[in-house]
Amino acid sequence: MTTLRLAIIGAGPAGIYAADILLKAERHFDVSIDLFDHLPAPYGLVRYGVAPDHPRIKGIINALRDVLDRGDIRLFGNVRYGTDITLDDLKRHYNAVIFATGAVRDADLKIPGIELEGSYGAAEFVSWFDGHPDFPRSWPLTAKEVAVIGNGNVALDVSRILAKHADDLLPTEIPDNVYQGLAESPVTDVHVFGRRGPTSVKFTPLELRELGELRDVDMIVYDEDFDYDDAARDAIATNKQVLVIDKVLNQWRKRETGQASRRLHLHFFAKPLEIVDDGTGRVGGIRWERTAPDGAGGVVGTGEIRELPIQAVYRAVGYFGSPLPGIPFDKKRGVIPNREGQVLRKADPSSGSSTWTEQMYGVYATGWIKRGPVGLIGHTKSDAMETVRHVINDSGNWWRPESPSEQSIVELLDSRGIAYTDLDGWHNLDQHELALGSAQGRVRVKVVPRDEMVNISRDEA
Ligand SMILES: Cc1cc2nc3c(=O)[nH]c(=O)nc-3n(C[C@H](O)[C@H](O)[C@H](O)COP(=O)(O)OP(=O)(O)OC[C@H]3O[C@@H](n4cnc5c(N)ncnc54)[C@H](O)[C@@H]3O)c2cc1C
Repeated sequence: MTTLRLAIIGAGPAGIYAADILLKAERHFDVSIDLFDHLPAPYGLVRYGVAPDHPRIKGIINALRDVLDRGDIRLFGNVRYGTDITLDDLKRHYNAVIFATGAVRDADLKIPGIELEGSYGAAEFVSWFDGHPDFPRSWPLTAKEVAVIGNGNVALDVSRILAKHADDLLPTEIPDNVYQGLAESPVTDVHVFGRRGPTSVKFTPLELRELGELRDVDMIVYDEDFDYDDAARDAIATNKQVLVIDKVLNQWRKRETGQASRRLHLHFFAKPLEIVDDGTGRVGGIRWERTAPDGAGGVVGTGEIRELPIQAVYRAVGYFGSPLPGIPFDKKRGVIPNREGQVLRKADPSSGSSTWTEQMYGVYATGWIKRGPVGLIGHTKSDAMETVRHVINDSGNWWRPESPSEQSIVELLDSRGIAYTDLDGWHNLDQHELALGSAQGRVRVKVVPRDEMVNISRDEA
């Protein structure tokens, strides 16, 4: 029986599900899978994106760990595709590769003043509070009034973490430096801005409702935002999710406020126009235009301009994928161009054509780098099914590697002096973090510095 030697780049949910699905699939060949990640620990955004106070979602890690613990997938952490290993290396050692590298950086928001000091991307802040090793350990939490631009769940995560009292995060796995930083925050008001109305938000009801349960935080919504048009009323009547969101917001309208020391404001029909300079190159305010329903589910500007003083702004307008050396990249969408996971390239790159039509044999994509940064962890499973089906059916076009043995890639990494981490290493780090946590009565305390993560994993501490 032939053996498919498969490399998967990215040990987030998409990569792990792809490996699992392939191993369980009906097929006429054996499979040997190596899973690479540039981080020393697996699980991608489940570890470094999902908020620490969402233990139920973080719990998905248990299911992913069960897959790895089965022992039929080799994990190589702390190995970056593009620098530590290249496409040529993969062609020499594998029959095919699946890229599952996700999307980690913030999409741009092109408004004047967005480059001022005190203006941040949500992804950077998330990486800080989730203890990502490649981000600064300290975060400038000096603002009393903060704006968050965006109406999706990441905007809610950022607003919640900013508004929540640090002590209420202590039982979670937040790193010590994050607790210290948040505990010193002088924040009093967090203002969330969305261009459209309450019935057009991308929040999920559960995440929205959670804001109303924060201790010592008043939810402020404004009556002027609830003058619904027919399109909004239709949305409430036909979409259960919108119905629940509307209910939650309307309950908050009736609540008494004024006692809490912090406030979380939701501004709808508010299109940010400019971040205002305080005169020293720092964020001093936000200027926005009031919008109005256009009758067809969208909005139009009204010309009415408003302004609020703020000292920091976070843009939560979406994540964006990053290009990978040797692999086609769609700069507009931030994804690897693909047809159901089969990576595509331009038939004649010199022609200037912007369409990708030709299959790049042996190369596949799954997860956020395939589809774009939308959707929940569960969606990466259906993604992976589609991609894996093509990997199986394309067996006639796989690469024919010179050195397919499992040992040869280990020798390559060793010869390059790469301090890779493996599954046993992850168990070491996991146990270490759990022990740090249990000593303090907490779920876990994350180890943040990369060298410490690697040393603990490799038992070289
Ligand atoms: C802030 C935030 C909160 C979220 N909260 C939820 C939630 O509550 N519930 C929910 O269901 N979903 C949530 N999601 C969505 C969920 O995280 C994604 O659906 C999912 O993680 C996408 O999986 P992925 O494997 O495609 O990408 P990722 O999880 O990003 O995994 C990609 C992996 O590839 C690795 N990688 C990248 N480049 C390289 C390289 N060059 N070499 C080697 N490795 C590389 C990365 O280190 C990473 O481990 C959230 C997302 C964000 C951003």
